[in-house]
Amino acid sequence: MAQPKFVEFGSQPIEKYRHVMDGEFEAIAAEMEAVRDRFADRTVWHVNSTALGGGVAEMLRSFLPLACDAGADNRWVVLSERPEFFGITKRIHNKLHGHPGDGGPLGAKERDAYDEILADSAKQLVKLFGPDDFVFLHDPQTAGLIPAVSDSGVGTLWRCHVGVDRTNENVNEAVEFLLPYVEQADAIVFSRQSYAWKELPKDKVFLMPPAIDAFSPKNQELEPAVVSDILGTIGLGPDRPASDPEFVRSDGSTGKVESEAEILQVEPLPEDAFLITQISRWDVLKDHEGLLKCFSEYLRDTDVHLALVGPSSAGVADDPEGPAVGYRIFSAWKELPDDLRRRVHIVNLPMDDFDENGVMVNAIQRRSDIVVQKSLVEGFGLTVSEAMWKGKPVVASAVGGIQDQIVDGESGILIDDPTDLDAFARAFGRLITDPELAESMGNAARERVKQRFLVIPRLRDYARVILSADAEMAAREGAPETS
Ligand code: UDP
Repeated sequence: MAQPKFVEFGSQPIEKYRHVMDGEFEAIAAEMEAVRDRFADRTVWHVNSTALGGGVAEMLRSFLPLACDAGADNRWVVLSERPEFFGITKRIHNKLHGHPGDGGPLGAKERDAYDEILADSAKQLVKLFGPDDFVFLHDPQTAGLIPAVSDSGVGTLWRCHVGVDRTNENVNEAVEFLLPYVEQADAIVFSRQSYAWKELPKDKVFLMPPAIDAFSPKNQELEPAVVSDILGTIGLGPDRPASDPEFVRSDGSTGKVESEAEILQVEPLPEDAFLITQISRWDVLKDHEGLLKCFSEYLRDTDVHLALVGPSSAGVADDPEGPAVGYRIFSAWKELPDDLRRRVHIVNLPMDDFDENGVMVNAIQRRSDIVVQKSLVEGFGLTVSEAMWKGKPVVASAVGGIQDQIVDGESGILIDDPTDLDAFARAFGRLITDPELAESMGNAARERVKQRFLVIPRLRDYARVILSADAEMAAREGAPETS
């Protein structure tokens, strides 16, 4: 790692959630007070491998400013490793999802390279930590740091955002690779109970589902005129507005959408077109190609439009497969017959300005009539909650954390087999022909996110994990030596 890269973020008042959280707010704030007392002179660090793009960066951006306001000092550092490192870690990531990825092994050679690259980062990182600090290491990219960070004496927690409903040989191989590091952590946090590895002691395992920030640029309320102006500015909508549309940045200041997106399209989206959208990284496991095939086969004789939206190719530092997947979708788009190609928009959003990118996602989700998440596997799937919060009917594969978010038939539609194109098409058909159903599912979806997937109750989970790991460490330090 060249130098630790700090990600800057301000503090955000949790107070703004008081009216959203009804009766629960006071209790959550009180639990975070306990963290403040115990961590008065200590820092809680977070280390991951990208500051932009993907669910982990998204979650840290929304969570840490609130955690700073409510409790301890939190800081965020990003690894910047050589490309071959991310080749190995993407392989681990794919296998943890049960897929072979590039088909390569996770053997002694990969372990040596992984250890060797991370050893340098570990040396640099531990210099930053104070003796009583706590460090959250996120995902497989950072698991190899656990031994060195733990040896430096700080509380060491590993948070795994990836998991599968059923394990297979690929998963076992990835777990076997990571286990020697992970079992040295003081606590391990998974997103769902079914993701917790059976090899880990139960008392070290905690659960913390992801969540979204209702006030971030990605999820804040936007007037329909602003939505339309943002689409016009980025080039997806038909008209560029006379002045740049405004939104509220993460730090509370006023931002403007000025950048254009790179869009593959014959012509912009007509003002009144019915729009189905999927927003995700360009990753085979998100199955954009399957969605494109479904659209081409089943929605050919309609006037419905499809938008596939993802980060611009240079956007996500730890995802080396993104450009190749993006290229395949581009090729598939070029092969579409003219009448279909006219209704398919492949949108690459600029990633240089996190807030601007977020509000673009926001506007596209709000403009959509249906949001899809046709993932083959999914850790959690933040995009689902993001769309549900905007009152959109979501059609999604019944995989991973998506199953926790959508109650099938009430707050969206779940498709049991993610490869069943016919089932996706039937779900689209139901919503296209029954606007009342679409509206009632959208309303139920917003309510469900309000009840379960807003970021503020996660502060309570966070307080519990930190305080419990801290108590455990204190007990260990106080315990008499055994020989
Ligand atoms: N995202 C984004 N810009 C894009 C594509 C995706 O900001 O062009 C965001 C998306 O809104 C969501 C996150 O990236 O917040 C993806 O998280 P998710 O849990 O859905 O999937 P992951 O990428 O972690 O597999």
